[in-house]
Amino acid sequence: MPEGDTVWLAAKRMNTALAGQTLRRGELRVPQLAATDLTGRTVAEVVSRGKHMLTRLTDGWTLRTHYRMDGSWHIYRKGARWRGGPAFSIRAVLATDRWDCVGYRLHDVTMVRTEQEDTVVGHLGPDVLGPDWDLDEALRRLRSHPDEQVGVAVLDQRNLCGPGNLYKVEGLFVCGVHPWMRVADVEDLSGLVERTRALMLANRDRPEQSTTGDLRRGRDHWVYGRKDKPCYRCGTPILRGDQGPDLQERITYWCPTCQATDAPVDPLARTGEPDHPRPLTSAT
Ligand SMILES: [Zn+2]
Repeated sequence: MPEGDTVWLAAKRMNTALAGQTLRRGELRVPQLAATDLTGRTVAEVVSRGKHMLTRLTDGWTLRTHYRMDGSWHIYRKGARWRGGPAFSIRAVLATDRWDCVGYRLHDVTMVRTEQEDTVVGHLGPDVLGPDWDLDEALRRLRSHPDEQVGVAVLDQRNLCGPGNLYKVEGLFVCGVHPWMRVADVEDLSGLVERTRALMLANRDRPEQSTTGDLRRGRDHWVYGRKDKPCYRCGTPILRGDQGPDLQERITYWCPTCQATDAPVDPLARTGEPDHPRPLTSAT
């Protein structure tokens, strides 16, 4: 599942391939941009902003794309076979003399004036992996909704942008915080945000996403994807529950011992009961 570090690494690689280069082919295969041809235009830079990718052109326009659940950019040497999926799943092709950058299953494919990028990403909180990361501002935004469940608040990209469900779940475990606690009840909110960020920083230069420091499959996460398996720290079986409105993206795992809390949490959270919808409070 794409997280901010996945998009950060993709943007870095895209920037290496495209920055300063003139596009020999620039197709956007979405209905609303079918008439837009980027061929002949020059790429200034490619950057990520949370889970959004911004491909800035030298003529003052930006191509914004988003991975959501299943999107990805693939970079191929000119002439290599494209292997990212069937042709109908391709949403964008940006090709130079040397590289083909092919975007599969991309969402929110939009052209916007570079000076008006804020209209598509201005709502986002501080970027965990951005050069302008601002811990105090992220904390201010989180604390402005003290009754929100912390597991929902950390994923709300309006508070801080970049973390997806994996880093939310693992950050909460590492800090011993129950996902359903109120933001106001989290003793060390600053520590939680910084540890979550550190997990992402540790992984951003590689495709693997290990939070334990162990890259072996099955050993790479503390609790994520480990329902009923013994906690690596205390042996208690890991619980799984659904949190937040977009359940597919928000399946939560936690250790009821390491993340025990005296603070009031929703009783369903303790049993990991599925189908636990909540009012919509998140935005990507
Ligand atoms: Zn435990």
